[in-house]
Formats: sequence, structure tokens, C-alpha cells
Amino acid sequence: MEETKLASAALPDFAEPSRFRAWRAVHLQAPEGLLAKVPSKLRADIHLAAQVFPFRVNDYVLRELIDWNAAPDDPMFRLVFPMPEMLIQEDRSRVAEALAQGDRARLAAVVTEIRARLNPHPAGQLDANAAYLNGQRLEGVQHKYHETVLFFPTQGQTCHSYCTFCFRWPQFVGERAWRMGARTTEGLVRYLRAHPEVSDVLITGGDPMVMRTAQLAAIVRALLDPALAHVRTIRIGTKAISYWPYRFTHDEDADDLLRLIEEVRARGKEIAIMAHICHPRELMPQPARNAVRRLRDAGAIIRAQSPVLRWINDEADVWAELWREEVALGIVPYYMFVERDTGAQHYFALPLARCWEIYRDAIRQVSGLARTARGPSMSAWPGKVEVQGVAEVADKRVFVLRMIQARNPKWVQRPFFAHYDAHAIWLDELRPAFAKRFFFES
Ligand code: SF4
Repeated sequence: MEETKLASAALPDFAEPSRFRAWRAVHLQAPEGLLAKVPSKLRADIHLAAQVFPFRVNDYVLRELIDWNAAPDDPMFRLVFPMPEMLIQEDRSRVAEALAQGDRARLAAVVTEIRARLNPHPAGQLDANAAYLNGQRLEGVQHKYHETVLFFPTQGQTCHSYCTFCFRWPQFVGERAWRMGARTTEGLVRYLRAHPEVSDVLITGGDPMVMRTAQLAAIVRALLDPALAHVRTIRIGTKAISYWPYRFTHDEDADDLLRLIEEVRARGKEIAIMAHICHPRELMPQPARNAVRRLRDAGAIIRAQSPVLRWINDEADVWAELWREEVALGIVPYYMFVERDTGAQHYFALPLARCWEIYRDAIRQVSGLARTARGPSMSAWPGKVEVQGVAEVADKRVFVLRMIQARNPKWVQRPFFAHYDAHAIWLDELRPAFAKRFFFES
């Protein structure tokens, strides 16, 4: 990375958060404020990367999370600002050339071609996970694991800020054919009535917490239908605790949201907040801590997960601190994921062997209460594959792997082995150690 450092700058005052009820995206072209202090070379680099990767950052992230004295190497800066190295050199040159020519049509064609090569729908999520009812495919509903259904409401398919590593990036780039979304819950409810094995529904995005409470309530209340008694847990995937904690404290309908959580609990169902938290710094600002407290007081269980990412959280001490902080706040550490095989995987991914070392060295530092974190886990086509360790078996150095969750329920908990490979970053780079194929390949 070049030596450029960003000057600190006058920032908006968040002492009165009600002034910021409506979050606003800040764009690189903003003539005033902090981004004007970004050196022009770095600004141009970010502008280049943002042609391909979605970019959005709000005032709260700029003000509360990023350490501007450490940027651009600051992990929170890397979390939201796309870097040109996220593109391979050849693609960088092509985007730069199209930008320099000022030819919008050419630029759009180059960008579309690059994005299509970045594996927009990893692990078969668009087709292999599709839910069908009476032979008809349901838009915005996925059913990969026996007991869990995912629902993508169209109104929740953005986020308060975008993460540079996000595997759901195709939701944000305006390609209609790539986007998953359902306008109503009608298909979801019919599907669930026909699937009594489903105990969990995950409302996901994007970030469903960008929706107004009234919109979210319509979905949640549909799941309280007495005919859906088998749905025991409603999960909501969100990064709002980190990116816009005022969603739970000061937004106009924040209290309504908490009442909704209480209503779900009173009706005998669990409501689980599946929080994306990548770095302990996200939990340090008082507004985030207030948000956690209010959610818990309303009866929600908060579980936290993140991939392990180069540049952002690639040290065991960072994870140990994260898990300790989560437990102190009453959040359950849930997953350490491996960066998925999409988008800028080459930029963020670490070798599986390194992911496992980070997990091992972090888990050793924390008490049993924080050892609820599973991982490092790959959300791959057959299921969630955990790297359990490196061992010598029959004179071979191998990865010990386990299927935590699986497309086929019979595969769950099945251990298996792969040749040790110091460079492999994903399941498809591994070779079976004691068989011709992995058991899920036959
Ligand atoms: S908040 Fe979640 S869905 Fe949104 S950009 Fe970040 S990782 Fe992706």
C-alpha cells in the first residue's frame, strides 16, 4: 500500500443522535467534510475500485469507527473503503483506461464483464438453494439446510454501509438478474405451511434493519400465524449494531421495533439477532453498547459472526478481544467464517491453515463462555465445513474437517480428511487424503 496517510478532520457532532435519525450516505465526490481530506491519489484509487465493488458509508461509521490517524491501514477503513488491489492488475488497468477515456458505455461493459467473473453467486445459492412450491420457484426464498429457510425481503436489500468483503455484493450493484428478493410474504408462508421440518426462518439481506419497523413487523407477524407453530425461531441478520446502532435507540420507530421483539417473545417464539461483527472496535462506541442492551432487555438473543479477513481481523488477539467483549455484553460468539469464494476473495482470504491457527490461538485465550464460536467454517456448496485442525494420520499431514451443517442432513457432523495444503484458501482447492473423492462428491 502506498504511504499516503489521511489527515484527521472536523467531524459531525454525534452528541445529539436524533439529528441523524435519517442516515445519509457519503460519496467520494462530497465537496466538504472528511472525505475532502483524503489525498487525491487515494481518492482516485478508491473511485476506481468503487466502479466494480459497491461502496456506501454513513456518517456514523466515519465518525465513530474509523481511526483516521491510522487510515488507510486502519481495519475499519478497510472494512468500508474499496481498495484498487481488490481487483487483479489486469482488471484495474482496464477500468482505469475506460475511466480515463470517459466512455461510460465502455466502462459499464468492462465493469459488468469483471463482475460476472467474480462468482456472484457462490455455493450455488441462486439455483441450488432455490425454494420451489408446486413446481414453481419462489423468488426471495432459499432453503438449503433442512430446518432453516432464508427470506430476502426486497425492501431490506441494502445496508447502512457496505462491507468491502461482502459475499452478498451482487444484491447491491443493480444487476436485476442477480438480485434475490421477495415483495410479499405470501409465498414464504405457503412454503412454510408445506414444510413442517422448518424450525428457523432467517430474514436476511442486505440488512433487514434498513427497513422501517412497520415493514419488518408485517414479515414477522406473518410468521406468528398459528399454522406456523413449527417455526420456533425468527432470526434477523444485521450489521446495524455496528453501522447504525441508533436503529435500536433513537430512530423514530426504534421503540416500536423493541415492542415487536417483545411481542414475538410473548407469543412463545425466539427472536435471534444474527449480528455481523468483524472487529472489537465495532462494539466500543457507547451507542452500540446501548443498542445491545436495549435488544437484550426486549428479549432478543444476539449471536455474532464474521469471516476472518486479511487487513481487518487477521490476528488471534483481535478475535480473542472480540469474543471477550461480546460475552461481556451478553452476545453469544457464533461463527468465525472463512472468506467466501466470491468478489475480492484473493484480497481478503487467508490460507485455511492460517485461519485455523488464528482460531486456535484466539480460543485458547478466552473462557469457556466464549468458546461457543465455531470455525473456521467454509459456507460451501455441500454445507458448512469446519477446519478442526491439522494432524498426522497414517504418516500423512492432513486437515481434519467436519461438516457442521449440510445440504443433506445425513452429512451433518461427518468428519473427513484432506491433504494438508499450506496455500489452499477454499474447499475446492483441497484433495481428499484417503479416498478418491470427498464423500459428498459421489
Ligand atoms: S452488512 Fe452484511 S450484507 Fe451488508 S455489506 Fe456488510 S456483510 Fe454485506
